[in-house]
Amino acid sequence: METQVKAIRIEKNGGPEVLKLVSVQVPAPQENEVTIRQKAVGLNFIDIYCRSGLYAHPLPHGLGFEASGVVEAVGSGVKHLKVGDRVAYGQSPLGAYAEARNVPADRVVKLPKGVSFEQAAAIMLKGLTVQYLFRQTYRLQGGETILFHAAAGGVGLIACQWAKALGVKLIGTASTPEKAALAKAQGAWEVIDYSRENVAERVKELTNGKKVPVVYDGVGQDTWTTSLDCLEPRGLMVSFGNASGPVNGINLGVLASKGSLFVTRPTLGTHVSTLAKMKAAADELFGLVSKKKIDITIGQRFPLEAAADAQEALAGRKTVGATILTLD
Ligand code: NDP
Repeated sequence: METQVKAIRIEKNGGPEVLKLVSVQVPAPQENEVTIRQKAVGLNFIDIYCRSGLYAHPLPHGLGFEASGVVEAVGSGVKHLKVGDRVAYGQSPLGAYAEARNVPADRVVKLPKGVSFEQAAAIMLKGLTVQYLFRQTYRLQGGETILFHAAAGGVGLIACQWAKALGVKLIGTASTPEKAALAKAQGAWEVIDYSRENVAERVKELTNGKKVPVVYDGVGQDTWTTSLDCLEPRGLMVSFGNASGPVNGINLGVLASKGSLFVTRPTLGTHVSTLAKMKAAADELFGLVSKKKIDITIGQRFPLEAAADAQEALAGRKTVGATILTLD
């Protein structure tokens, strides 16, 4: 049965003003889809790249990859979900900014009792990202000292807590004393306020000259060189985002001159490409949440119709922790 719902769409790339609240039809789900009546939507920096056109998709299109809600209808081929299930997803096709929508069922997991809709919308994409960064891209064992940029952000605050749970000393970076204090309170070992201190020098000091085996960098262009300067010989640069702009035009010789460094540019999609992989990563994430090793910080809530304001706040470094869109 078709239903009419409100959703955000863009017809062209640009600033926040291109976001339009429109009425759309949600058709009955196809064989391998479920219809989800959504309760909360997670906002992510990638939404801004999709809006601006840095990550181009055929227009017009919706926005958002992450949300939670209740299953309202199930396609005939779906085995692991039923009507009424509490569910969430963090890696769907574009279009999460909506009251209800159809999602491929292999992108959707059931929520454990202890995780609320708002928490799930705040943690699926961001928490699964920390899972693969810490458990797959560079498998932390405990005892390492690492550098993680934007430690007070959505992904960052989860990383601070996950690192602590693993016995890893996370050195974070942040732009203000308030953000630095928050990241430290949530488990970072040290946080460098980069508006006042030189990051590479401070990392050297904190590690007694040794520097770190891995840097996790979601800031991109502005931090590229500094990040390489913080790595020990044969260290790994994990460049996983572009908050300040993409990293372009790299001369590979720089990796040689700075000590035979490695670089990777991973995406969440590669790591949760099947339902089994997604469930395994989500189980690990939800396990830490239910053991209270990870407390979910929702720093900002906006209604669906204020999605443009929410994106402006995120792009303008005015947010801490996760930002969600709430739905009635
Ligand atoms: P955040 O909440 O971390 O927001 C971005 C933060 O980056 C800001 O708060 C700010 O923190 C910092 N920053 C530094 N320079 C800039 C700048 N010029 N403009 C804006 N922000 C800047 O966002 P998310 O948690 O949603 O995402 C963090 C990063 O992780 C993003 O780059 C995102 O694309 C990436 N990501 C990548 C994934 C992947 O699989 N590859 C998956 C998920 C996220 P401060 O003020 O402290 O500097």
